Amino acid sequence: MAVTEPAPAAVSAAQSAAHEGAHEGSQEGAHEGILRRQAARESSARTYARALPIVPVRARGLTIEGADGQRYLDCLSGAGTLALGHNHPVVLEAIRKVLDSGAPLHVLDLATPVKDAFTTELFRTLPRGLADRARIQFCGPAGTDAVEAALKLVRTATGRDGMLAFTGAYHGMTAGALEASGGASDVRVARLPYPQDYRCPFGVGGAGGAELAARWTESLLDDTKSGVPQPAGMILEPVQGEGGVIPAPDQWLRRMRAITAARSIPLIADEVQTGVGRTGAFWAVEHSGVVPDVMVLSKAIGGSLPLAVVIYRDDLDVWQPGAHAGTFRGNQLAMAAGTATLAYVRENGLAERAGVLGARMLTQLRSLAAEQPCIGDVRGSGLMIGVELVDPAAADPFDTAGADQPGPGATDLPDPAGSADHLASVALDRARRPLPPAPALAAEVQRECLRRGLIVELGGRHSSVVRLLPPLTITDEQAAAILDRLADAISAAARPHRG
Ligand code: PMP
Repeated sequence: MAVTEPAPAAVSAAQSAAHEGAHEGSQEGAHEGILRRQAARESSARTYARALPIVPVRARGLTIEGADGQRYLDCLSGAGTLALGHNHPVVLEAIRKVLDSGAPLHVLDLATPVKDAFTTELFRTLPRGLADRARIQFCGPAGTDAVEAALKLVRTATGRDGMLAFTGAYHGMTAGALEASGGASDVRVARLPYPQDYRCPFGVGGAGGAELAARWTESLLDDTKSGVPQPAGMILEPVQGEGGVIPAPDQWLRRMRAITAARSIPLIADEVQTGVGRTGAFWAVEHSGVVPDVMVLSKAIGGSLPLAVVIYRDDLDVWQPGAHAGTFRGNQLAMAAGTATLAYVRENGLAERAGVLGARMLTQLRSLAAEQPCIGDVRGSGLMIGVELVDPAAADPFDTAGADQPGPGATDLPDPAGSADHLASVALDRARRPLPPAPALAAEVQRECLRRGLIVELGGRHSSVVRLLPPLTITDEQAAAILDRLADAISAAARPHRG
């Protein structure tokens, strides 16, 4: 297994430049000095920097070079932002063109040719059914800003206040977005079950679990004593990213569309992470054919620079001028980089490529799972992939003989159909039962990956899901190198855990 490769001479120049700011008189290198100063000065709320003690100085495509001379394959990709990887030539060219043209870089929400081109390209990609009647609101530059705008939009349009959101959701860190996220407990948001196979809340998984989740949603809305008033909207991720890479079944998404449409509840698709080809379709809702009323977009649409928008059907456009203002809504460089990225993904069929390559990577990871008992589940959609690590040594959660707490799917479930066959068919695939999550092992896998020159993200309810979000431009060879390094890292990390 290849370990981290030394970086070329160019990094030495960057290294020595960075070294000038290093600790006077100490022996530490630029890399250590920068990390030490970061730890001393930056907030204790810093996140990625804790698990990934690297100092990027150059980057291209999938590869990052650190100030320590090491090279890394970057499967974090700016938390899924870099559809074309780092510093793609078409993105750099688009940015340079704006810089060299003398165009203003900051124009609030004024009209410019750069913005006009971005909107035209974006509208060209939208799901049919929304594209013809779409409005766009440029908002503050982060995903969470677009979520706030979307919540305000539907609250204004419906005159209602409550919101439907899902277990495991992540929509951002500002107040309204946080309220809709899975970690929150708030009266304005009714929390509904998001279907998942491996840890199905109903112990059923598959289509049966998704159907039960849909029925629960329906019954909460129709039961006048459910405690859930008619909401202003429903917000969902077509694939939950931070929640642990959980793709929603297409049929369940269609049910959510039908349930909301029948009750005049606007459906908001948060495609901040899933958009721009990531899941194997340009927009993840396209897999199911669902046309949402509102789409929240950020990350990849800015081509690596900050940009966020809300797209919505024109009849929702009843908010007043200035209802959602903000200073940073006119980033011309981000719009140019975004236009170039959207066009490149579209013209080069990168969504289809992500679908094909992602499916192959999932198959290979499932073969690995068959050999590695610490891999509980492998799942994903396109190049949004998750490997859930579990503790295989934990007591069998389904073994009710003498156990105090039978796990989900235990055989004393009531039998709604009154037949043993029904029970057998819905719940008791013992080979698929979930084992307890293993967050410490996942953190160890992340460290072992870094040692091997691979940057991965952790996610999921228990931070036990290793996440891969590589650029859509990676080659077959790069995909193989990623999986080699990951397999090697999992073996190394699992060794001491085997007892
Ligand atoms: N929605 C989703 C689905 C996300 O994944 C994220 C970020 N990971 C956000 C919203 C928030 O985006 P931002 O961090 O840019 O505020």
